[in-house]
Amino acid sequence: MRLNTGESLIYGGSRCFSCSRRLRWFELIPVVSYFAFRGKCRSCGAGISLQYPLVELASGLLFLFIYLKSTQSPPTGGFEWITFALTISFFWLLLTLSVYDIRHQILPDMLVGAAAAAAIVFVTAQSIQNPSLILVHGFAGAALFLFFGALWFFSQGRWMGLGDAKLAFAVGLFLGPVPALVALFLSFWTGAAVGIAWVLLNRIRTLKIPIPFGPFLAAGAFVAYLWGDILIEQYLRLVIY
Ligand SMILES: [Zn+2]
Repeated sequence: MRLNTGESLIYGGSRCFSCSRRLRWFELIPVVSYFAFRGKCRSCGAGISLQYPLVELASGLLFLFIYLKSTQSPPTGGFEWITFALTISFFWLLLTLSVYDIRHQILPDMLVGAAAAAAIVFVTAQSIQNPSLILVHGFAGAALFLFFGALWFFSQGRWMGLGDAKLAFAVGLFLGPVPALVALFLSFWTGAAVGIAWVLLNRIRTLKIPIPFGPFLAAGAFVAYLWGDILIEQYLRLVIY
């Protein structure tokens, strides 16, 4: 909420956007405080956005799912704190930039850059045991960037933003080729379904639909990370038999 408002992201506690009063610790308990105070500021009574409890809940679920995935299929046997922390950082940044994209229709370089940095550190840490990983994941990142970059270039920014291409690079780099392809398919199918529904509901005839693609790519990446192997298995079964 504070990004690009001129306020510090690190210093200064949370405050009410209406009356500027600093919030006490008991007003900052995720999800609980919002409902305890009925979504209103205790001083001025101004309504507090439902975005807060929703994002808090989504963050909690994100952490839980990544933890379950990490304990279920550890990359090199045993639970790895570094892998876990980097995976959480990566997907939590994807959640943050999705919310920002929905609010402002733009993917800020700062958040996309941070996600790309998390992906780079993640792949580098993984490649200590398997050096070829850098090449394979790097290829996936470059391929996704070129694909989205081409869509951005040829549509002159109407279908995709350049921010989407940068995000696609981070997603490809983090996931590697096969899950990245799953993420690509999922994001296009869900994005197209929502886009068509939007056009039908609003009865408009234009290719410029104000629906940001970032959240679809982020959600597709998360589903591909969690269940990519199961989805591929089911899909192949469907195609072959
Ligand atoms: Zn207030």
